[in-house]
Amino acid sequence: ILIERLDKILAGTGRWSRREAGELVRAGRVEAAGAVARRPEEKYEREGLDLRVDGEQVCGERYVYLMLHKPAGLLSATEDPRQPTVLDLLPEHLRRVGLFPVGRLDKDTEGLLLLTNDGPLGHRLLTPARHVDKVYFVRAAGRLDEEDAAAFRAGMMLGDGLRCLPAELELLPEPDAGLVTLREGKYHQVKRMLAARGKPVLYLKRLSMGPLELDPELVTGGWRPLTEEERKRLK
Ligand code: URA
Repeated sequence: ILIERLDKILAGTGRWSRREAGELVRAGRVEAAGAVARRPEEKYEREGLDLRVDGEQVCGERYVYLMLHKPAGLLSATEDPRQPTVLDLLPEHLRRVGLFPVGRLDKDTEGLLLLTNDGPLGHRLLTPARHVDKVYFVRAAGRLDEEDAAAFRAGMMLGDGLRCLPAELELLPEPDAGLVTLREGKYHQVKRMLAARGKPVLYLKRLSMGPLELDPELVTGGWRPLTEEERKRLK
């Protein structure tokens, strides 16, 4: 049982800061357990609470789902003794709700990262048996060509003898750029595949993960809660 202040429960959805949540309550826009709430400091049992803002249900939700545009330089981890992690991009109240990144991007890789505290969903998205396609924009040291694309399609053998599933390399108008689609997620996979072609990766950015696409409006380092529609697509 988790009894918490109303403003904290609202902020825990990731949609408002604690201060904004307090303002919503004081403006009479929040209903909790069937009645208009008046005091942000009022305490409620979070689990199963019927919570509405402007009539729209926002809670009863147990989990938080955030889309993050990861910048280079941060670890895809929840904590590290020495280096900053993606959780450092979030405000204080969202750092304590048990969020974890679903899958990892290398420290120098940018782009789409899903953060959630929904363990079962994270597990489902990562389990190899149900692997979701991931699409990356890549810039390589060298001109990408049809032969590279054919090698990706055939299922590449990496330097250490590791065999990859067939993947896709779509060539883009700029000769050193491409879109890579993977159906698996081996360690440093895109970098190792292109290194095996003699064209090391210079820049890598994840654009999508299964049905979830990086919001082009989201600045590097920015985040937002998933929309209802995006959450449904993931289920
Ligand atoms: N492949 C890589 O090499 N790095 C990533 O971060 C993701 C895919």
